[in-house]
Amino acid sequence: MTTDDKRPHVVIIGGGFGGLECARSLPPSDFRVTLIDSRNFHLFQPLLYQVATGGLSPANIAAPLRGVLARRKNVSVRMGEVVDILPDEQRVCLNDGHVDYDELVVATGVRHNYFGHNTWEQFAPGLKTVEDAVGIRHRVLEAFERAERATDPGELHRLLTFVVIGGGPTGVEMAGAIAELARGTLRGNFRRINPAHSRVLLIEAGPRVLAAYTDASSNRAMRSLERLGVTVWLNTRVVDISASMVSVIRNGVRHNLPTRAAIWAAGVQASHLGATLRDRAGATLDQVGRVIVEKDLSIAGQPHIFVIGDLANYPHQTGEPLPGIAPVAMQQGRFVADRLGLRYVDADFIPFHYHHRGSMATIGRAAAVAEIGRWRFSGYPAWLAWLFIHVLFLIEFESRVLVMIQWAWNYFTRNRSARLITGDVDAALSDRDAKPAPHPKSNPGNAAAKAPSKPAKPKPRRSAKATQ
Ligand SMILES: Cc1cc2nc3c(=O)[nH]c(=O)nc-3n(C[C@H](O)[C@H](O)[C@H](O)COP(=O)(O)OP(=O)(O)OC[C@H]3O[C@@H](n4cnc5c(N)ncnc54)[C@H](O)[C@@H]3O)c2cc1C
Repeated sequence: MTTDDKRPHVVIIGGGFGGLECARSLPPSDFRVTLIDSRNFHLFQPLLYQVATGGLSPANIAAPLRGVLARRKNVSVRMGEVVDILPDEQRVCLNDGHVDYDELVVATGVRHNYFGHNTWEQFAPGLKTVEDAVGIRHRVLEAFERAERATDPGELHRLLTFVVIGGGPTGVEMAGAIAELARGTLRGNFRRINPAHSRVLLIEAGPRVLAAYTDASSNRAMRSLERLGVTVWLNTRVVDISASMVSVIRNGVRHNLPTRAAIWAAGVQASHLGATLRDRAGATLDQVGRVIVEKDLSIAGQPHIFVIGDLANYPHQTGEPLPGIAPVAMQQGRFVADRLGLRYVDADFIPFHYHHRGSMATIGRAAAVAEIGRWRFSGYPAWLAWLFIHVLFLIEFESRVLVMIQWAWNYFTRNRSARLITGDVDAALSDRDAKPAPHPKSNPGNAAAKAPSKPAKPKPRRSAKATQ
């Protein structure tokens, strides 16, 4: 690309499913493209739970953006954090400079939502980034290590209790995978404890797990979870989380669940660029900060700014926002690329329409539920379909082969070979363990105020799970 290049400059913020698909779909002869991401890789988030439970390594589910786009000569990758957008100047500001655009596509996704209880994040991390997954893996595996040397029965019980909060696809996957780890993979690995005696609890505020699926599928998922040894508590609300326990209200009764490993999979909020677009470009946001977009995915009154993927709320198809899933983001990415192409040849405008091809959630080894068109199936066939589709969508060929081999190996041996405790051994958490936070017994409504005043350990900026 040269500086006298006359092709319109499309800047895409976010190299996730939406942004990457858009970059790949823009015709090279018509546009030069800059893809900006704060990370240098595309992350296949649907398999993060495998990293969090030692089944796969981070590199199996991530692909360097420069490598993925190497053959797209019209696309440049810029690594950097976008901190501001100036629509009047058609400029994107990064933490280390700026980039000017003719057309802007914002695809920065979502992060966790703790519904105002932000102090909970340090005790119950969510699953959104590689760091989150490695941190959770660390926490889960370390709990077994500590249990092996625990002498106090109460402490042993706490260490072998795992609480997953949120019964959507991520919560179901995580709970199932931890149960399999405890009951299968770790069998015979310890001398003093029996990991199979672990308690895995899945807490869901609503009346069923996998609420976006049919009753039949969610009942099947419940049965599969129970077969794996997961205890599911429905209609149960979390009111407090501390270093040593998760407190819930169930049937009007408060239960304090001692645990060292709680995982948050209960909600999302939009990336901070949603608020930037509201302040700078007059965008309207929904309750979780997503940008309500027009029928062509642009922002009202800003025909040169498009918002796609999890960050966008597209209400024009069903009256409800489309689900935060990868196919929506990818179809929107392709749509914006086509739309930009058409705009420059003055073609008629057709609104975005999402084509739903099906939903699948996995619960464990050879257990999944699938809803594809009018077909509803579960168990081994659903799991095989899930496996095939997820591996197929892994972006890099090399990853596909590696993941396939690793999975086949794990399946036959029940092994999870990436069971490494790496990174910073959580010193802050050890301190908290030594002196468990005093736990209030009443006034659950003021839970956030009761969390320990010790500042949270700094975490990577984004984290979360998409509601699917
Ligand atoms: C644990 C988990 C499991 C999931 N399972 C499934 C599943 O089974 N099936 C399914 O269809 N969907 C699943 N999803 C949802 C799916 O991953 C999302 O819908 C999809 O990633 C949304 O794509 P996106 O492009 O909108 O955002 P993302 O893929 O989240 O990408 C956003 C990108 O923006 C970058 N970014 C953010 N802020 C900035 C900034 N300020 N500056 C620069 N870059 C920035 C990020 O680094 C990231 O690369 C899952 C999600 C999670 C977290």
